[in-house]
Amino acid sequence: MWRKALGLVLRSVQYKETDCILTVLTAENGLMTLKARGVRRNSSTLKGACQLLTYSEFTISEVRGFQNITEATAIEMFPELRMDIELLALASYFAQLAETLSQQDAPDPALLPLTLNALYALSKLHKKPRLVKAALELRMACLAGYEPQLDGCTVCSSAEPDRFCVSDGVLACASCLASDGVHLPVSPPSLAAMRYIISCDDRKLFSFDLTGAAEKELCDAAETYLLTQLERGFSTLDFYKSLALR
Ligand SMILES: [Zn+2]
Repeated sequence: MWRKALGLVLRSVQYKETDCILTVLTAENGLMTLKARGVRRNSSTLKGACQLLTYSEFTISEVRGFQNITEATAIEMFPELRMDIELLALASYFAQLAETLSQQDAPDPALLPLTLNALYALSKLHKKPRLVKAALELRMACLAGYEPQLDGCTVCSSAEPDRFCVSDGVLACASCLASDGVHLPVSPPSLAAMRYIISCDDRKLFSFDLTGAAEKELCDAAETYLLTQLERGFSTLDFYKSLALR
């Protein structure tokens, strides 16, 4: 039995002498675990299309419970990401996020295009990496079921509160806050960006700009919120930050 699947390679682990086991995010089947036999041989025709962060069309044959790739054609390899260590590190974080949010054999039609659009914005559109990261983090939080409530202060309903409560995903004025916990500062521009990110059309997700203190507020809020909701850290994020701090 064989079939075709379009997917993005999120992870590749070496297996036996010359094989790799790929974790691939597909639109129709969610995460798939595919075996690329002989892909580490120089002569392998699968090599390019099976690289990390490549979007490819795979022809798959199922043999004794293993899904083997028999043919693969690269559709987009994002070469720009492979020439810049910081971009590659950030894209690897995006891949780890996508893997965390997806499930084996459970289709998630929104996650693959979101991840691909983020890689496209980084590599082809040259959007600011920090803003692409923040937009993706907030949008992924929404996809994972943690859409923040950004209408107004959760206590007095003021439309422009100045704190974002990370554990609850709500807004409050500094003067209304009674509880402990992590409350990050937000200003009207960073709040406007957060509201835009959680509500805009998919195709316009990365079409905004922010600078200075507001940019930092958005970046801090998006990252802290997602990690708090997912209750975990990411090795790829730590690596990206170690590069960005140099
Ligand atoms: Zn208030």
